[in-house]
Amino acid sequence: MIEMADVYKTYPNGVVALNGITTKIKQGEFVYVVGPSGAGKSTFIKMMYREEKPSKGSITVHGVNLSKLRNSRVPLFRRNLGVVFQDFKLLPTLTVFENVAFAMEVIEKHPAEIKKRVMQVLDLVGLKHKIRMLPDELSGGEQQRVSIARSIVNSPKVVIADEPTGNLDPETSWEIMNTLEEINKRGTTVIMATHNKDIVNNMKHRVIAIENGKIVRDEQRGEYGYEY
Ligand code: ADP
Ligand code: ADP
Repeated sequence: MIEMADVYKTYPNGVVALNGITTKIKQGEFVYVVGPSGAGKSTFIKMMYREEKPSKGSITVHGVNLSKLRNSRVPLFRRNLGVVFQDFKLLPTLTVFENVAFAMEVIEKHPAEIKKRVMQVLDLVGLKHKIRMLPDELSGGEQQRVSIARSIVNSPKVVIADEPTGNLDPETSWEIMNTLEEINKRGTTVIMATHNKDIVNNMKHRVIAIENGKIVRDEQRGEYGYEY
């Protein structure tokens, strides 16, 4: 499904962010990526949606070799994934409905199909009653739920999240986690980088720990393993 083979990443400034990563993630898995700040978690995640390219080694996502993927093919490739960010990245002038619909409009889906599917995913994240609101009229947790709805609207096989609860209070973080759990139960692979010890230790899933650009631990139903 997702496979990395001996992946290295050196940024142009000479920083080695990934230092020989080999791993496999199967369809339907839920994976936490943990480790200290600067360990390489974001870089690891960015590799999977081709935000960064490996300096050496190969990454295959759903049969697509990302080291060989042309830049012009990246948008097409990304349609098979959903990406969720710590800071939501919603379009401020569009309503909740429009923010989610946008991802379907760019691939020219029929308006009736868009309406049906957008309402379906907003129902899943519990925001059907807020479709006409603008992002800044919503709480942080609600904005993150909109961004999750947007990430899954085109039914991706994988959702990739970089610290999705990083800007949220504990209660709201749990709401977001329950939503991601629900998406995972429906068969979508979920991969998330996180610093949330409480979540990792209580909602058990595979844990990949990265330190200094290397995988130092990989356990099914693992622990967070750090103080912070
Ligand atoms: P983490 O997500 O675990 O905090 P990152 O993957 O963001 O780690 O960063 C790993 C290392 O790469 C850090 O030393 C960071 O400063 C460096 N780094 C990250 N992005 C860039 C970049 N675009 N250019 C140069 N160095 C970077
Ligand atoms: P609060 O965080 O405000 O106390 P919650 O009822 O959301 O409100 O959570 C209480 C505690 O229950 C959390 O700190 C967390 O440890 C745990 N918890 C909540 N939801 C889950 C869940 N889906 N799986 C495991 N533990 C959970």
